[in-house]
Amino acid sequence: MSGGFAFALHGGAFGVAADHTDQNALLMRLLADGRRDLAAGASALDVCVAAFAAMEDSGLFVAGRGSGRNAVGYAECDAAVMDGATRKAGAVAGLRNVGHPVHAARLVMDHTRHVLLAGEAAVDALMPFGLVTVDDPASYFSAERSRTSFANASSEDPPHGTVGAVACDCHGRLAAATSTGGTRGKLPGRIGDTPIIGAGTYADSDVAVSCTGVGEYFMRHVAAYDVAARVRYSGLALDDAVAAVLRGPLEAAGGRGGLIAVSRARDVALAYNDAGMMAGSTTHNAEPRLIE
Ligand code: ASP
Repeated sequence: MSGGFAFALHGGAFGVAADHTDQNALLMRLLADGRRDLAAGASALDVCVAAFAAMEDSGLFVAGRGSGRNAVGYAECDAAVMDGATRKAGAVAGLRNVGHPVHAARLVMDHTRHVLLAGEAAVDALMPFGLVTVDDPASYFSAERSRTSFANASSEDPPHGTVGAVACDCHGRLAAATSTGGTRGKLPGRIGDTPIIGAGTYADSDVAVSCTGVGEYFMRHVAAYDVAARVRYSGLALDDAVAAVLRGPLEAAGGRGGLIAVSRARDVALAYNDAGMMAGSTTHNAEPRLIE
């Protein structure tokens, strides 16, 4: 019997307000698609992963095609996916020629016995399972559109545009996925929170979480897992658990960003401690809407 569903997406938190019209329109369309598919019985995992094809292709976010360049001028992408029902997870880091890093992460989960693969060797390992690479990374990762949306940002204000999805399906199964080009001007080889299970991405049988923000803080505070742990061990409501994580020691240490979360009870939390976050949600009894 269906217990309803919940689905949320984010397109990154940011320090400076800018025009996000195109990003918001895409998020709304993908929320509507996800709502349709979840109502038809699709799994949380499939709905989360499906949303990334358009987000990573669009060039509107700092993920996939829109990934910014690192300090020496090339894009390196990280991504993760986790199926809360089975606790299976897959992640990739430092990919330089893959347009759909979440697809690569899912290949790690579905076809290997590992959780996290990195760099060129990861691409080689995943090719036999159907990984598609881009021929000319220097022009593919042009990042023009995502850069435009952060045109007002100063160099002290790292632009965020990581994309994330969380869902609980009609059977109560949860999933989370996140994809990013990382932070502006990062050192080559730097890996953020996104592909680290429990830091930027996490799902179990109760809660699914996807984070965005300055990844080093989300890693040090194991932010995504901390939300789930507070629900599980302290019995906190999802909103309260999210607030405790975002407004607690992470913020006191200088960590800025946001996260989206859903629970098995089909509760949804969208929260940030920066100037804003592109995000929205929908449930079985709520039409898609964006965060205010
Ligand atoms: N969390 C990502 C990272 O540190 C960046 C972001 O969310 O904007 O790689």
